[in-house]
Order: sequence, then structure tokens, then C-alpha cells
Amino acid sequence: MASLWCRYAWLGSGEVVAGVELDVEAGEIIDVRTSIGAPSPGAESLEGVTIPGLANAHSHAFQRALRARTHVGADSFWAWRERMYELARTIEPEHFEALARATFAEMAEAGITVVGEFHYLHHPPGGGAYDDPNELGRRALAAATAVGLRITLLDTCYLDGGIGRDLDPVQRRFADADAAAWAERVGQLDDGDTARLGVAVHSVRAVRPAAIAEVVDWAQGRDAPLHAHVSEQPDENEACLEAYGTTPTGVFAAAGALDGRFTAVHATHLDGSDFTLLGESGACCCLCPTTERDLADGVGPAHALAEVGARLCVGSDSNAVVDLFEEARALELDERLVTLRRGLHDSEALLRAATVGGYGSLGWDRGGVLEAGAPADLVNVDLESVRLAGTPSGHLLEGLVYAATAADVRHVMVAGRWIVRDGRHVEIDTVAELQRAVAG
Ligand SMILES: [Zn+2]
Repeated sequence: MASLWCRYAWLGSGEVVAGVELDVEAGEIIDVRTSIGAPSPGAESLEGVTIPGLANAHSHAFQRALRARTHVGADSFWAWRERMYELARTIEPEHFEALARATFAEMAEAGITVVGEFHYLHHPPGGGAYDDPNELGRRALAAATAVGLRITLLDTCYLDGGIGRDLDPVQRRFADADAAAWAERVGQLDDGDTARLGVAVHSVRAVRPAAIAEVVDWAQGRDAPLHAHVSEQPDENEACLEAYGTTPTGVFAAAGALDGRFTAVHATHLDGSDFTLLGESGACCCLCPTTERDLADGVGPAHALAEVGARLCVGSDSNAVVDLFEEARALELDERLVTLRRGLHDSEALLRAATVGGYGSLGWDRGGVLEAGAPADLVNVDLESVRLAGTPSGHLLEGLVYAATAADVRHVMVAGRWIVRDGRHVEIDTVAELQRAVAG
């Protein structure tokens, strides 16, 4: 057993408290004691403020290679997608794994302890199958294991090139023949100690309603998390309304998808009935503000979703930015710009979106809090950086949410094991691996 004494800690709800000691054994927190003025004999002492691990509920790791290459130009989401396809057209398994490993290491150094990898790059360029049809999915899992990051692999069903459209050549490597072939392939993957299998429907663009229902059955039969891109762009809504007479959320509702295991990713352009459906079902909504800004998607209605009872989480999506503090505060700050109101979300709710909200979305129901029985996933944040220096002890939660960045993360533990110490991964030279992997 190891004991950690935290000068300050945020346990996953309420305010930051002083003097907390945690006992950790076999990857779990087994005891939490508060109002402890000094470390017990043998306890490791952690300065700064310690919080539950950050949950990145939506990532496409390979898109890290697009950073700084695709942000300018008078174009749109759809033009950006073409540039992403140029990258997707060429990636081979070793390059894919190197990108995933380096990106996951960057995430670890940013305080991310669990990632939801929304994985749709399944097959060789042009289509067909690798000898192991899950070659790339297994490489994503191997990359997370090498980094020590907890992962939910969201194996994504992708069948069509758009509503009523055949696959483009580049999309063939995303696609299985049909939902049954997808299910057969996915059925060959297993959970591990820090890896969990979830599933995804790419979007209503890529999967027809009847096939969505098959994926829903598969997920619900296994109590697996089910994610889908939902209403990221107005064009998607228009095409969906024209083809199916309802919104993307309406399509997922009709397929029986909406429950506490469902996560709508983006949920940017919703109508009134969508809010009711998402709220009443207790679904999660994963907003990815740094990517949504970059792609001119719009500002997701986080406040209205929270008001109707939807649970919120956040994701780094394209990985142009890997900083969950920024994603969390953007839920509030981006909405301020469009509503001309402040205080739509309290700080606790924003940090919960980046922690317990994401853990729940990814199927790790005990995670994202510091309490007995939770996985020992935690992040220690430096209070002596230029950003957080001078934060009064009574405002540490606001300091974390409105001033901290990924660069303030000092130590990161996953499943009771330190994977980042003093801001650096304990085994991986993250900068060198990123340089190599991005260069290809
Ligand atoms: Zn995405």
C-alpha cells in the first residue's frame, strides 16, 4: 500500500480542501482521509493541488499529425476533412502506432488519465483487410498500454460515404462490408486491465438507420459505451432531415440508442426536441471546443444541455490542442460570447465535465473522483507556475478552471502507477517521439 498526502485536493465535487491523505493499493484508492495536517510516516507528500485524472472522451490520435498544418485558409469543415483524408490515405500500421503512442504520451503529460479513442481507421489504404482485421485497433491499444494511459477503444462502424452516397476511395479503409461484418470484427477484441472496448457509430452520414440499430443492439447487449458524432455541422442536419424526416438525434433515438451509455459527440446544432431526447435519456454530450473553434463548427449549447439533464464531458478530438483545462473552461467562456451572459456553469460542473463526466461516458463508472473504490487515477497540479502563483486558497477551484493549463501538470498516476513525474513521462521522450511520428 502507498499513501499520498496532498496539501490541497479536489475530490471530484465541492470545493478544494486542505490536507487530504489517500491510500492506494492494487490500482485503487482504498481510503481517503481529510483534515490531515501533515503526512503520515511513510506517506509521499504532494504540494500543489491534486485532482482526479482528466478524461479525454473524444480523440482521433492520428490527427495530431495535422497540427499547425491545417488551421489557415478561407475554407470550411468539409475542406479540412479533405486534408485529413490526405493524411488518412497514407498511414501504415507502424506510423499509426507511433503517432498514437506519442499523442497519448502528450496527453499523459497534460494530466489525461483516460482517453476515448474514436477509431475508424480499420483497414489498409484502399480497403481490404490486414491479416489481423483489428491490426490498427490493437496498435491503438498497445500505444495506450505503453504510455500507461487508460483507454476505451471506441471501435467505429462506418459503412457509407454520406447519406445515399457510396464510399470515396479513401473512405474504404474506414468501412466494413455491413454492420454484421463490423460486429464480427469487433467481437474479436477484448477488454484488459486498463483497456475497455466501446463502440461508435461514425455519424448518420456514414451509417444508415437500420445498421445503427444493429450497432445499438451489439452495444446494449454488452453494456458497452456507444458514441456517435451528432450534429457537428448544419449540413449534416439538413441532409438527415431530407433523407429521414428527423434530426440526427432523432435518428439515434428511433434506433434505441439514447440511454446513459450513449454519448453524442459535438451536439452543436440541436433543435428543441433534441434537447428533450438527450436530457430525458440521461445521455452524455461530449463537446470539443478547441476543435469546434478550429473547424468553424459553432458553439455547442452546453448550458441548455446541462439544464435538461444531459451529462457533459469534453474531448480533444483532432488533437490540434491537447489541454482539457482549456476544453473545460471553453464550455463556459465560448457560451459567454454568444449569450452575452456570465456564470452559465459553475466551476465545479466544468471540472466534473473534464473528470467524472468523461469517465462515465467511457464506461469507467467508478473513475473521475478521489474516493475509496475509485481507480487510483490522479493528477497533481503545480501552484507555483506563473499562471497559478498567487491564487488564494479559497479560489483554487477557479484557478484550476480559469487559469491552469496542461503545462501546469506535475505528476500523473494511472491505476496506482506514476506515469508522469515533474511534467515528463517516466519512460517516453514525448517531444522526440512526437517529432519522429509527425514527420512520418
Ligand atoms: Zn471526432
